[in-house]
Amino acid sequence: MRIYNTLTKRKEEFVPITPGEVKMYVCGPTVYNLIHIGNARPMIVFDTVRRYFEHRGYRVNYVSNFTDVDDKIIKKAIEEGVDADVISERYIAECKKDMEALNVRPATVHPQATQEICGMLDMIQELIDSGHAYAAEDGTVYYRVRSFRDYGKLSHKNLDDLEGGKRSLLVSGEDQKEDPLDFVLWKPKKEGEPYWESPWCNGRPGWHIECSVMSKKYLGDEIDIHAGGEDLIFPHHENEIAQSEAANGKPFARYWMHNAFLNIDNRKMSKSAGNFFTVRDIISKYDPQVLRFFMLSAHYRSPLNFSAELMEAAKNGLERILTAVSNLNFLISKADGSQELTEEEKKLLEEAAAYTARFDEAMDDDFNTADAISAIFELVKFINTNTNGESSGVYLAALHEQIRELADVCGLIVDQKEEMLDADIEKMIEERQAARKAKDFARADAIRNELLEKGIVLEDTREGVKWKRV
Ligand code: AMP
Ligand code: ZN
Repeated sequence: MRIYNTLTKRKEEFVPITPGEVKMYVCGPTVYNLIHIGNARPMIVFDTVRRYFEHRGYRVNYVSNFTDVDDKIIKKAIEEGVDADVISERYIAECKKDMEALNVRPATVHPQATQEICGMLDMIQELIDSGHAYAAEDGTVYYRVRSFRDYGKLSHKNLDDLEGGKRSLLVSGEDQKEDPLDFVLWKPKKEGEPYWESPWCNGRPGWHIECSVMSKKYLGDEIDIHAGGEDLIFPHHENEIAQSEAANGKPFARYWMHNAFLNIDNRKMSKSAGNFFTVRDIISKYDPQVLRFFMLSAHYRSPLNFSAELMEAAKNGLERILTAVSNLNFLISKADGSQELTEEEKKLLEEAAAYTARFDEAMDDDFNTADAISAIFELVKFINTNTNGESSGVYLAALHEQIRELADVCGLIVDQKEEMLDADIEKMIEERQAARKAKDFARADAIRNELLEKGIVLEDTREGVKWKRV
């Protein structure tokens, strides 16, 4: 597998630190509002990366944080007259609902910054002790950027260029810095803000330290993949490297992966610019799977422009896949129970295997989901032309499993739960009653199971058979 590494600006062969295992950290959202579909892009992309690793047999330890202490959260809490944690807990819960709708699996761990303050205090102290950080008079702790020789290696920036840009950016209160490049690790509280005690002042952490600390705690000093949107390369990830590598004395992440922006009218979708749609907006208009399919229709390093036309195209594309699977399911339900493949079917399955190989090849090449989806479409075409009422059940089931597996790597659910009509359910119940009367208990049980598979539970009562959907 080859992954484009922002650090080296090259595609590199993936070699895990521990064979068979992937340790992966993805920077998560700041929780002060419903997430927008730009925030959903990294969630969907890296969930797909995780799923593909698992498809290739790796165990994935996937950590993704919630930033739950931040100026914007505090501002919202003040506006609503509630504590900051009321805001962050509310939007973590809402974010998890959106993730579930988009079939983004929960991370192995979702740490929250406010729960990890002790670890942050420890790392900041270590950085002070080793000369990489210093406390200013007012208790603010700064990272001494020039003490870290490799600063700039991820964003490919040169310190002197940065310095030039920063001089004009000096804001009040920052005059205690030794150097304009230095960034905040800990800052004094302001009136009405949440704070924690520390050796330097009562206050709260800067943004960057949480990820260094949580990544170390849940994954170890060295990890395989660190990921997020490309706006995080500088300064967030650059600063994480400076903190982690100075504190741990080891390289931090081997591969740095960054998704390009989701744009609207060719401008980055963002809360601050006001040009955004929330995930909630979009999934009230489209099946959430359409949004997921749309996101994966482009390579994750290419900018993607959101538009109604492209969503329609995604909807139609997804529909083609779902229709093929639905037809396959129909044929399976009608097929005889033969467990034998014909010679012809054996050959056809060998031919079909090429589409999985093509899918894997695309994903092996830096997770090229656009090409991987093309391979799924080819399989769809193959299924449509090479199945019919004569096909054996085993053959159809093998094709079903093949397409289900590829779709599952993309996080797409192809077996739509078909809602049965009440009348159909009742007809089947009558049939079951007739079978029982005729003492054909095998048939009666088969009908009960068939209904169960469709989410209908039967209950035999004195008043007759009752049923409910589960
Ligand atoms: P934030 O809550 O702004 O820290 O963002 C959470 C994640 O969403 C980060 O990985 C960002 O890089 C990513 N992100 C924010 N806006 C966009 C966008 N328009 N397109 C793609 N990714 C984005
Ligand atoms: Zn981070």
